[in-house]
Amino acid sequence: MLGLYQDITEQKLEKIVLQQSEYHLRQAQQIAHIGSWSFDLAGKLLWSDEMYQIYGVAPDTFALNVDNFIKLIHADDRPAMQEWIAACASGLKPGALEFRIWRQGTIRYLSGQGELMLDADGKPDYMAGTAQDITENKRTEESLFTLSFAMEQSPNSIVITDLDGRIEYVNSTFSRVTGYSPDDVLGKNPRIQQSGKTSRETYVDMWSQLTRGEPWQGELVNCRKDGSEYTEAVQISPVRQVSGRVSNYLAVKQDISEKKKAEERMERLAHFDQLTGLPNRSMLNARFKFALSLAQRSGEQLALMFIDLDRFKNINDTLGHAIGDQLLMEVARRLKATLRDEDTVSRLGGDEFIIVLPGIDANGAAHVATKLLEAVSLSWQVEQHELIATPSIGIAIYPDDGRDFETLSKHADAAMYRVKQEGRNDFRFFTPEMQASSVRSMQLANALRYALSRNELFLHYQPQLAIQDGRIVGAEALLRWRHPELGMISPAEFIPIAEDGGQIIQIGEWVLRTAVRQLKDWMDSGLPPMVMAVNLSAVQFHQANMIERVNGILDEVGLPHEYLELELTEAVAMNNPMAAIAVMDRLHESGIRMSIDDFGTGYSSLSYLKKFKVSKLKIDQSFVRDITDDPEDKAIVTAIINMASSLGIRTIAEGVETSGQLAFLRLQGCDEVQGYYFSKPLLAEQFEAFARNN
Ligand code: C2E
Ligand code: MG
Ligand code: MG
Repeated sequence: MLGLYQDITEQKLEKIVLQQSEYHLRQAQQIAHIGSWSFDLAGKLLWSDEMYQIYGVAPDTFALNVDNFIKLIHADDRPAMQEWIAACASGLKPGALEFRIWRQGTIRYLSGQGELMLDADGKPDYMAGTAQDITENKRTEESLFTLSFAMEQSPNSIVITDLDGRIEYVNSTFSRVTGYSPDDVLGKNPRIQQSGKTSRETYVDMWSQLTRGEPWQGELVNCRKDGSEYTEAVQISPVRQVSGRVSNYLAVKQDISEKKKAEERMERLAHFDQLTGLPNRSMLNARFKFALSLAQRSGEQLALMFIDLDRFKNINDTLGHAIGDQLLMEVARRLKATLRDEDTVSRLGGDEFIIVLPGIDANGAAHVATKLLEAVSLSWQVEQHELIATPSIGIAIYPDDGRDFETLSKHADAAMYRVKQEGRNDFRFFTPEMQASSVRSMQLANALRYALSRNELFLHYQPQLAIQDGRIVGAEALLRWRHPELGMISPAEFIPIAEDGGQIIQIGEWVLRTAVRQLKDWMDSGLPPMVMAVNLSAVQFHQANMIERVNGILDEVGLPHEYLELELTEAVAMNNPMAAIAVMDRLHESGIRMSIDDFGTGYSSLSYLKKFKVSKLKIDQSFVRDITDDPEDKAIVTAIINMASSLGIRTIAEGVETSGQLAFLRLQGCDEVQGYYFSKPLLAEQFEAFARNN
């Protein structure tokens, strides 16, 4: 037997070492999720164990070759893979290729590396490479991407600082809102935005929350780069790492300046009158309650005033709402300037103001009312208009005139109404007897709205006669109102109410049309021609298209213009003589006559009278009444007649009740007369009969 021994320790050891290093390699591949492959020139493809893991196939069932391998690749990425393999094979080092595979129905992202290996002679030997599953990284990367996009595009400003408050990140909204670019602020402290308007407590509160590791939210008034201020709603949260350690602060901020402004506007709307900036009804109520509780406790009195501007509606109607608004603002300013800080003045809408004066008695209230009358009545210039807004003031005193807001304001209103009735531009204290009349006024104002449509209005006609021969030369149309419950209501009572409420326009037009039609009918039926005199209210006179409307009615009815005579009051003409002259000129041009009613009661100046294109002066009945006894009235009437005749203007005396009056007037050369002595105002058919017998 021959034996041969060989010491294979070396080989054994080498093999063990080899096995061990293979084991380590495998483990390393497994841990790193990196697989390796080789591909020799004969076309044989070899995979490491980890490769099978990565591709999700089993070594004993998967027939590993290039074709099968390619089939594992996502179809879209196959061309890139083939190009990449070709590049590797040609000796280029194309670098990593990212590609997708389908693994058990889900897409995985892989990164491949590969290279051509050369043999000792430098000839191509085989290709080798690795593949790594990078799906997780890819996903993290993608979500980071999405996150940073979201941050960038967030409609909110986002600021990230380190724990010392140094800015590490700002998004583009921050830059847009503040005007600071990232370069302006990175590394800086957000303090650069402080405006000084945020309270110290806010910052103290914020830092105590944050240093405790808790989020804070609140509002900061900050500055933009250009120095302008804005308010932002801010939410700051500590950012914790996985370890729980706070590493950053994240601030999410929203510019709420607009919202704030809107809120303030709402607040103003809720509590203040938009036009004048005065407290509105709800704020007035609150202030009154407060004043009342003080008065109750201290036993002091308090005053409530109602203020209404006289004939404000005229200004609005004739000069337009813009001027009216300016007037109201000016009045509001003057009222406020005259009052003490503790007083409240509020606008109730329209031209009505209400004032609460705490701690004041009747004497004090009278004193304040006098000052208010003076302050408000001062004239002022709006554009080319010289305006005067005289106020009427009604006063009620707590506790005598009422113990609550409702009663006091009702009584102040009644007192104000009395001022209006007694000639305006004054003040009155409430007295119990006022209550009844104010109730009636309100009742009338309300009923008047329906008077026309319910046919409660009709006309009387009063004859006007030539003094020489007693011939009928005209008729004055006088409005009548028969209310179903209240009975006959005098135009002297309801016309001012219709003027205040604006119904006069409609009613006046109805009067005009009815009267003109009536005259046309009479003339058509053979009555001698005469003039129809129609009273025109100041409100109508100032109506913008008044002349067109009057002409329209005449043309519609078919009455020649010279048969209409409009009676204007002296006040209408003298209030703004230049404007009145312009209107009168135009009326005159269209052939319509005019007379001045109630002449002598106003303040006509002779120089203007010359320019008024009126054909008649109507001497007021208050002078006529006493001409037989009162030397002064005699003198006045004589003077009027002489002056008129020297100006070429005719005269008519109204309210002639006696033959004595008639005799005097005839002697003085008055042209016409009208009054009970001849006839009371008559219904149309009565008038017709009167005229036929005349
Ligand atoms: P006025 O235009 O000065 O009308 C004359 C008033 O004196 C009428 O009162 C008439 O009835 C009354 N009267 C006539 N003759 C005599 C008399 O001999 N003795 C006395 N004591 N009174 C006499 P009325 O109808 O109550 O009208 C009062 C005022 O109402 C009118 O005064 C006029 O300013 C106004 N008015 C009447 N109708 C209208 C109208 O249609 N439109 C406008 N805007 N105002 C009207
Ligand atoms: Mg009249
Ligand atoms: Mg009159």
